[in-house]
Amino acid sequence: SGTSLQKEESTDASSGQGFKGHDMLAPFTAGWQSTDLHPLVIQKSEGSYVYDINGKKYLDSLAGLWCTALGGNEPRLVDAAVKQLKTLPFYHSFWNRTTKPSLDLAKELLDTFTATKMAKAFFTNSGSEANDTQVKLVWYYNNALGRPEKKKFIARSKAYHGSTLISASLSGLPALHHKFDLPAPFVLHTDCPHYWRYHLPGETEEEFSTRLANNLENLILKEGPETIAAFIAEPVMGAGGVIPPPATYFDKIQAVVKKYDILFIADEVICAFGRLGTMFGCDKYNMKPDLVSVAKALSSAYMPIGAVLVSPEVSDVIHSQSNKLGSFSHGFTYSGHPVSCAVAIEALKIYKEKNILEQVNKIAPKFQEGLKAFSDSPIIGEIRGTGLILGTEFVDNKSPHDPYPPEWGVGAYFGAQCEKHGMLVRVSGDNIMMSPPFIMTLEEIDELISIYGKALQATEERVKELKSQ
Ligand code: PMP
Repeated sequence: SGTSLQKEESTDASSGQGFKGHDMLAPFTAGWQSTDLHPLVIQKSEGSYVYDINGKKYLDSLAGLWCTALGGNEPRLVDAAVKQLKTLPFYHSFWNRTTKPSLDLAKELLDTFTATKMAKAFFTNSGSEANDTQVKLVWYYNNALGRPEKKKFIARSKAYHGSTLISASLSGLPALHHKFDLPAPFVLHTDCPHYWRYHLPGETEEEFSTRLANNLENLILKEGPETIAAFIAEPVMGAGGVIPPPATYFDKIQAVVKKYDILFIADEVICAFGRLGTMFGCDKYNMKPDLVSVAKALSSAYMPIGAVLVSPEVSDVIHSQSNKLGSFSHGFTYSGHPVSCAVAIEALKIYKEKNILEQVNKIAPKFQEGLKAFSDSPIIGEIRGTGLILGTEFVDNKSPHDPYPPEWGVGAYFGAQCEKHGMLVRVSGDNIMMSPPFIMTLEEIDELISIYGKALQATEERVKELKSQ
């Protein structure tokens, strides 16, 4: 809502003095914010920290936008980019022309994803483009199979799949639909798998998952299975508030999807490459997708790149039907951009050579346990997460049904306190989200927990004050 956005981004960052009313139409920013407030202007990064233009240092607990997995100044990524820029800054991948870095990255990606066998990789510049590509691929596949009616997509409430027309439609967040005439009519939304918020009295996690799988099946039957093309899900929901799946959820959901010949798409844009302590979210939750979207940590965000991984079944249809269908007329000028691919190849190499999973699993327990120790706070409803992703939700009376009045701006206050003490977090209403870089040290995790504790204490006092008024 307008109110929570207003509170959410209400920090008036002194670093941006002189940039009030700047010339950018800024993403996910209200017009009045850029008009009335100073932006926070970030100038430099180093390891787990970023610095604003006044030199103030912040622990970057969100890794940019859940993406700078290797932190701020990994020289190998810079060298890979420079080397490629000096050799071949650009060539495209249309009409069976391409470049060596894109071929190498496709091979490397297919080798890295082992939850199920994947046959092809399609390159995009972002997660949104990857998910748009998923829809076009699935439609093309069903057209090739002669079932033009099988076109609807099922996504979940509170999902985030991007902000282009189709990926915003797949997303299940009202702010992405409201005033944009979305979602598109072929997209249906099913339940958000958030046990704490949505379970019935006395219902176990397993029973909750069974109910959600039944609801999904009923939706499919109501619409007609012959009209449902695909189901898309993030392994752990990110921007919707960091929501790990309840026990047995993906087993039950996958059984339903399979029963009705519906393709299963894993949106691994946040989870892939180690964030959950496994190489992919699919490894952690035993997901066997037909299609996968990746981006973000693929290049540790040093260059924009995303990809779609395609199963042998889907790619075989597309390839075998090419005489009938002609070329697969979809792609971007920068699909497989050689500099982005060179950086991504290096990032994957670093993940392997530095044993990034071991590193994540070394720091993740401290991150999770250290922060979950604050769960007893009277203003916290739930702290949830796994690996290096965590969400905090502020509510009154520890109840999901008692939100604080949006005009109190509890989440925004917490975010501003973190910023004051030198840490950046993601604030969305009264949800706080964190997804630190994989390279954080145990000492930096200590610092993160300490700043969180200070911000929480100040926020508790603030709420006490507001309640007494
Ligand atoms: N899918 C998920 C799960 C995401 O978290 C995001 C971005 N936060 C996207 C897709 C969209 O990616 P992009 O912003 O690169 O378009």
